[in-house]
Amino acid sequence: MTARDILELIKQHNVEMVDFRIVDVPGRQHHVTIPASEVDEDMLNNGIAFDGSSIQGFRGIEESDMVMRPVFETAYLDPFMAVPTLALACNVFEPNGNRYERDPRYIAEKAEAYLVATGIADKAFFGPELEFFIFDDVRYDSSAHSAFYSIDSIEAMWNTGRDEGPNLGYKVKNKGGYFPVPPTDTQQDIRTEMVQELIRAGIRVERHHHEVATAGQAEINFRFNTLTKTADTVMLYKYIVRNVARKYGKIATFMPKPIFGDNGSGMHVHQSLFKGDQPLFYKEGGYGNLSDVALHYIAGILEHAPAILAFSNPSTNSYKRLVPGYEAPVNLVFSKGNRSAAIRVPVATVTPKSARIEFRTPDSTSNPYLAFAAMLMAGLDGIRRKLDPTALGYGPVDKNIYELDAEAKRNIKSVPGSFEESLAALEADHEFLLEGGVFTKDFIYNWIELKRSTEVQPMHLRPHPYEFHLYLDL
Ligand code: GLU
Ligand code: MG
Ligand code: MG
Repeated sequence: MTARDILELIKQHNVEMVDFRIVDVPGRQHHVTIPASEVDEDMLNNGIAFDGSSIQGFRGIEESDMVMRPVFETAYLDPFMAVPTLALACNVFEPNGNRYERDPRYIAEKAEAYLVATGIADKAFFGPELEFFIFDDVRYDSSAHSAFYSIDSIEAMWNTGRDEGPNLGYKVKNKGGYFPVPPTDTQQDIRTEMVQELIRAGIRVERHHHEVATAGQAEINFRFNTLTKTADTVMLYKYIVRNVARKYGKIATFMPKPIFGDNGSGMHVHQSLFKGDQPLFYKEGGYGNLSDVALHYIAGILEHAPAILAFSNPSTNSYKRLVPGYEAPVNLVFSKGNRSAAIRVPVATVTPKSARIEFRTPDSTSNPYLAFAAMLMAGLDGIRRKLDPTALGYGPVDKNIYELDAEAKRNIKSVPGSFEESLAALEADHEFLLEGGVFTKDFIYNWIELKRSTEVQPMHLRPHPYEFHLYLDL
């Protein structure tokens, strides 16, 4: 696509506003809007200037001038604005015309270029499965219950499974969300509208359903694609899901563990490599019909998992999800069926082309450009070093891990228990990310410092509500 195609789209759809969007380092979208009457070919080709100093993770005020330049293929007619609006995802540039090293989209593109340069494969496919909660928005309805339970109601929920009185309606039983038909499922129509908007945006949606958690957990799945394209889709997906929810007076949240005592929301990521038309993860007869390349890739991910989690599970809340009992992974092993394993190998209805691995640890607080790039780099490192997951003690483990004897259990490694731990792991283990200049040391140190100073430490400094429950009377 060219700038002229964009001008044509503007004319054709009577677009009045053009919205230029970038993604900051943690993974939030920001935008600048220009009246369509001001947009011309030069502007579309050269981009627009913006102040990078107030974008989280970008640079300081002493050198704040930056440029965002649209990627034409991402053009999207945004139905959530009052007037016809065309949105464009942008790459970030320095004033001198160089790509900006801390632009997450640049890192994703470099990871794909590095994959080709290794000669191992020319395409990596990513299929993320985002789960989220739809809550009543207390700004719209003050009588609605919010995500923030009091300690007493949390305790009640914990002990009884429910925080409400007698069952006088079609209430969802605790963990009974998966997946009765309406009227028990009250969110069918809102999910359907989300799906329709996703399809209208060009996203190939495969299914939607209520998820296991009681209080309105949802999942909408779309088809896999290559790395940067899929990360673009994740950004658009979150935007659409949140804005449809808003139309209903609700909020959608991708926070991994909003409710204590019920399932959290993950973003499992299915992954595979192709060379030309040749799928590289399939070999008939092996464990889960996996090829050696797939096994090395698995070993790379599991070996570097503690460091990867600093990108794929990058919030203090992420580690409240990674606990036993809620279908979230806790063990650094691979398995055909085990949902507590960090990597699941899908076997039902798998063909050579659809052979893949599912990394179940990630959640949607990750910046998808960075999380996908980090996973790919870890997998490629495993392939390069021909790592053997079984020799390294990563399974396969197909038994219920909780029923293994103590000796067998002792040998199984766990995911980090906190964000602090995974940031420390990244600090100690990031050489594999620097290969091919995909991540830079500056980016990694900036990330660790940003996350420590704006998330880990502020959380650490605050008295937690549960501490009042424990200590108020001690
Ligand atoms: N919600 C679960 C998680 O936290 C996953 C449920 C599923 O297997 O889809 O990862
Ligand atoms: Mg799910
Ligand atoms: Mg899954």
